[in-house]
Amino acid sequence: MGCGKTMQLLQVAFNYEERGHKVCVIKPATDTKNGTKILTRIGPERETNFCFDRKTDLFKKISKEYNDVQCVLVDEAQFLTSKQVDQLMQVVNNLHIPVMAYGLRLNFRLTDGGFEGATRLLQIAHEIEEIKTICECGHKATCNARFLDGRFVADGPDVLIDGTTEIEYRAICPACYERYLHGRVTDVEGLPQSSRKGGAVGRKHPAGPAQKRSL
Ligand SMILES: [Zn+2]
Repeated sequence: MGCGKTMQLLQVAFNYEERGHKVCVIKPATDTKNGTKILTRIGPERETNFCFDRKTDLFKKISKEYNDVQCVLVDEAQFLTSKQVDQLMQVVNNLHIPVMAYGLRLNFRLTDGGFEGATRLLQIAHEIEEIKTICECGHKATCNARFLDGRFVADGPDVLIDGTTEIEYRAICPACYERYLHGRVTDVEGLPQSSRKGGAVGRKHPAGPAQKRSL
């Protein structure tokens, strides 16, 4: 989405490792584009410890193979199943290992879509922290918008894997999302002056920004 959640995850991993602690970094196998690595837009990357699919029992896997780590870090946590979020809670409760899950609250259509993991995390996380970023208009960005070959789209599947089209996600504010949705603007230069001041509507909008969730 471009709000730096993966960058924060890597920073936390670095902090633990710098102090001599082991971490377990995981991501969903749906993110096939980067193989088993997690990448950030500004450069840093790292290999994951493992990728999970919807059938992976995360409690079983972590308790067998990673029970000596000090922290479990989950990238793209919205793709967890609801059951897997509960398994991560078991990791916290039974193995006493903190879990930090980084992901989106909503999909690019601003519905909950298939992100049952995001919903479950919001229900049971001990702490929820919003990662803030800025829209192209300068306001707080809380929506994750999909662009195909530079064109805004508001429909399509939650997970889009297509080798021919350039898929980009941009963090934008709810007002800009509305404008893109109604085709009133194609770039920020075209924004009417009044729209640059807004914001009240944005704060009421149910759309969610990227979240860090600590179980
Ligand atoms: Zn905006």
